[in-house]
Formats: sequence, C-alpha cells, structure tokens
Amino acid sequence: MKIESLMKIETVAVHAGRRIDPSTGAVTPPIHLSTTFERSADGEYPLGFSYSREGNPNRRALEECLAELEGGKDALVFSSGLAVATALVQGLEPGDHIVAPDDVYWGLRKVIGDVFGKAGLETTYADMTDPDGVRAALKPSTRLIWVETPSNPLMKVTDLAAIATLARQASPNIVTVCDGTFATPILQHPLDCGIDMVCHSTTKYIGGHSDVVGGALITRHDNYLFERARRAQRYGGAVPSPFDCWLTLRGIDTLPYRVRAHSENALRVARHLKMHDAVEAVHYPGLPDHPGYEIAARQMAAFGGMLSFQVAGMREAAMNVAARCRLFIRATSLGGAHSLIEHRASVEGPQTRTPQNLLRLSIGLEHPDDLIADLNQALG
Ligand SMILES: *Cc1c(COP(=O)(O)O)cnc(C)c1O
Repeated sequence: MKIESLMKIETVAVHAGRRIDPSTGAVTPPIHLSTTFERSADGEYPLGFSYSREGNPNRRALEECLAELEGGKDALVFSSGLAVATALVQGLEPGDHIVAPDDVYWGLRKVIGDVFGKAGLETTYADMTDPDGVRAALKPSTRLIWVETPSNPLMKVTDLAAIATLARQASPNIVTVCDGTFATPILQHPLDCGIDMVCHSTTKYIGGHSDVVGGALITRHDNYLFERARRAQRYGGAVPSPFDCWLTLRGIDTLPYRVRAHSENALRVARHLKMHDAVEAVHYPGLPDHPGYEIAARQMAAFGGMLSFQVAGMREAAMNVAARCRLFIRATSLGGAHSLIEHRASVEGPQTRTPQNLLRLSIGLEHPDDLIADLNQALG
C-alpha cells in the first residue's frame, strides 16, 4: 500500500506520483522531452524507460497520481478522452455486444458507430437509471457495460453499485466502465462501487484550466480490456505529450479545492434558477426534486459544477438568453475556471433529443453572486 492511500484526497492530489528530482532537487517536476533513454551496458533499461511512446516520466507520474486518486491498481493516460473510448472499443471482438447509456456523451456513439462501424459490434443504448432495463438489455455476447454519471446534459444519475452488481451476477465476461468526467475522482469513486474501470476526459476538471486535452483510464484489477488498452496506447500511439502530462498533473494539485468551489457555486446558481419565473426547469442532482438526488447524495461527495436549465419558451428564448450573457462565455467544453453556457441542441444537431429550450452551464470559479447577476440580466 502506498503511503498516500492512507491520506486524505487533498494530500494525495498534491503528492501522489510526485518525487523530488534526484539530479537537481527540483520540487516541481521537470518536463522530460527526451524521446529516448539510455540502456545499461548489459542492454537493460535500469530506470524503466526506453522510448517515449512506450513510456515517459511525466506520463508515468500522471498515471500514478490518477490511479491513487481513484483507488485503482493502474492507470493509462491518452491524448484525449475519446482516445480512451477508442482504445476500449478497439479491444472488443467482432460480434461482441456493448450496453451504453441512451444519453451517452455523443462522441462514444461516433466511436462505436463511425470509427468502428466495420468492426461487427452490436450496441444497445439503454436507460442506465433503470437497472431492470439494463439487465433486460444484456445478451450472452455482452462484454462491455458503459455508464456515465452524472450524464450530459440532463444530469441523470446512475446507481453505480446496482450496475456493478447486476453485471457481476449476469456474467464474469462483462467489464463495466464508468465515464466519471463530470464527477471527477473527488466527488465519486466508481471502483469502490464495484465498477471495473473508470475513464475521464482530463480535458475537463482534472486539467481544469481549459488548456490541455487528455484522457485517462483507471482499473481496479487486471483485466484483458485494460491490457488491450495498454497496447493501444503504446503501439496504437495515442499518447499525450510530456508537456500535456505535466500541465494535467499541475491541474491536479488544486483539483479537490476547485471541485468543491465549482460544486458550491453550482448549487447556489441552481437554487436561484429554480425560483426564477423565466425558467421552466432546472436539472441539477443537488436539488431534492431531481430524480437522481437520492442516489447522488449517497454516491457523490457533492453534486458537481454542471447543470442545465430550460428557459420558459422555445428555442429562440434560450438562444436569446445565451446571447445576452456577459460573464458566461458561449463555448463548449466544461470544467475550467471560466463559466460557460451552451445551447446543446444546436451542438448535437438535428437528431438530438435534447430539449430546444435547454442551456447547459459549466459553473466556473467566479463569485456566485456575479454569475447569478449575469443570468438575471440575461433572463430579462
Ligand atoms: C469531453 C468529454 C469526453 C471526450 O473527451 P475529449 O477529451 O474531448 O476527447 C468524454 N466524456 C465526457 C463526459 C466528456 O465531457
């Protein structure tokens, strides 16, 4: 057991994967740009690194830190969140069946349907908030159950322990994966709920400053899909640069405090919008009338920085609110210091089932009074 695993998450976030640079005493890790590493006279690699696609000190430090934050056995980082999804789907065999959320991050549908359209995979998109429905969707060929909680943009909450249990009861051949991007390892520990692996788009809260794209996969135990993802990383080559890893690890220093502030701000904004006459509905798992409130209260340490709301009126009313915002920036993505507002239906295109009057907010680190004032003036 690592020393950090006995400590609180704030301490782990600062110390896990870090060490004083032995050659200089540098406290902040150096960025190792070298693509190649010296062999010893007997042909070995005594320090464990040979070539930077296969392994790099900055990447290894980030992986060690993420494994400890999630309470996992091992971690792999990739050049984006979707590179993680690609590596996992690539590990499946023709004829394998996937169960994924009906409101999954749209990129996963692209990976399964477009990138691997020829691979002969079968997918059922199910409502993950209904464990009986998920059980009914399983087949003898099911190999992967994908969950994402809270989900985008309606913030639906999946009971991770219930999904892990039904998967285990159904078959030893099923691997469960949770996309924990919205919750981060600070608010939710899917591996402790019995889920096999967690993935993150580290582009979002983990990097935390909207300046680096990346992804991570953390496993609770050895399994073939993790090993195949490792091969996809090393030999498929979707690796993050040393500087990307360094930036992401730097973001993690402050992750626990940032996520707490994002969550507090979001709760205040959600409560305010809930009482506003020009708002038809607010979707935030921290509001007691949200359908996922009870599970979220049990499963999460706080409710996170993401919420969405429906403006009274149609698409145009929502577009007008977004257009009038001064502090909220109209942009996609989430998890950074700036608050962002987005009309999801226009991003998702004509097939979308997202309500046309819905706006998604990524609540940043500004003062909540200023955020509320901005929304008030935009709502008119
Ligand atoms: C952004 C996001 C992804 C994809 O990650 P990238 O880093 O953009 O490739 C996957 N899942 C969720 C929930 C996301 O928000």
